Amino acid sequence: MTLPISFEFFPPKTPEGADKLRTVRQALYAHRPDFCSVTFGAGGSTQDGTFATVRDILAEGQQAASHFSCIGATKARVREQLATLKAMGVRRLVALRGDLPSGYGMGGEFTYASDLVAFIRAETGDHFHIEVAAYPEVHPQARSAEADLKAYVAKVKAGADSAITQYFYSADAYARFVDDTLAMGATVPVVPGIMPITNSSQLLRFSDACGAEVPRWIRLRLQGFGDDTASIKAFGLDVVSGLCEQLRRAGAPGLHFYTMNQSVPTLALLDRMGV
Ligand code: FAD
Repeated sequence: MTLPISFEFFPPKTPEGADKLRTVRQALYAHRPDFCSVTFGAGGSTQDGTFATVRDILAEGQQAASHFSCIGATKARVREQLATLKAMGVRRLVALRGDLPSGYGMGGEFTYASDLVAFIRAETGDHFHIEVAAYPEVHPQARSAEADLKAYVAKVKAGADSAITQYFYSADAYARFVDDTLAMGATVPVVPGIMPITNSSQLLRFSDACGAEVPRWIRLRLQGFGDDTASIKAFGLDVVSGLCEQLRRAGAPGLHFYTMNQSVPTLALLDRMGV
């Protein structure tokens, strides 16, 4: 089965982490991703690590996308960072507002990701393919579900080329999001973000914070496995490969994997799906 795929990594904090991530990437490259993306700490906190990892991916002959968050940033700073990315040969960005760690003041000259998308287009024309974030289960800070759909459409109208979703475990939420935003005039591809399930407590904690819903039946089954990680992984593989299959049948234009800097869970999903 052919389906465009992409992989997401975060910048490693240590030289050992960087070495491990190189091995992880090589294992995943066997599946010929369209691109690999690297997250960016809000406020530029991981900028050096993000850019270094993006450089490594490009040097390995792969397409790389740099995530880019604007919260707290000035226009001058963003202009400088865009020039650096352009000089590195980067052609794809994931343009985000980001979340400032608590304790940071808002400041900055951008309020929403749509401001960043418009700025990138005005400054760099068509140089970058711009991805934006989409939330089929509604962004946690949205004023209302409808306001969030409008915010997504505004990002597309500001110049985004495609979108990657927050992860979710309900294919219906994705299908509804795509139908509704299409009807509102946002016609760009919306690629589902896929989070493998390998760990129970971490997933539940993380999902609460980012507005992704882990359905009750999945939550209870995971809790029931306790510390039995083999059963959690086997169950997670069944559930997530089933979701990917549903999404493929529903016409998803590709799949974007949140690898969490590990190859095994994503490879297991791709093998199970026959991609
Ligand atoms: P926005 O699209 O600006 O939306 C933020 C909130 O503002 C939403 O609640 C929206 O409804 C609301 N809003 C937007 N426009 C308006 C408006 N005009 N009026 C009123 N309300 C409005 N975070 C990182 O720090 N680094 C990363 O690398 C990173 N990568 C990510 C990749 C993906 C694919 C996804 C889905 C998320 C990622 N995040 C990352 C998390 C993201 O930064 C957070 O979810 C953040 O809170 C919102 O960013 P956004 O770009 O979606 O913001």
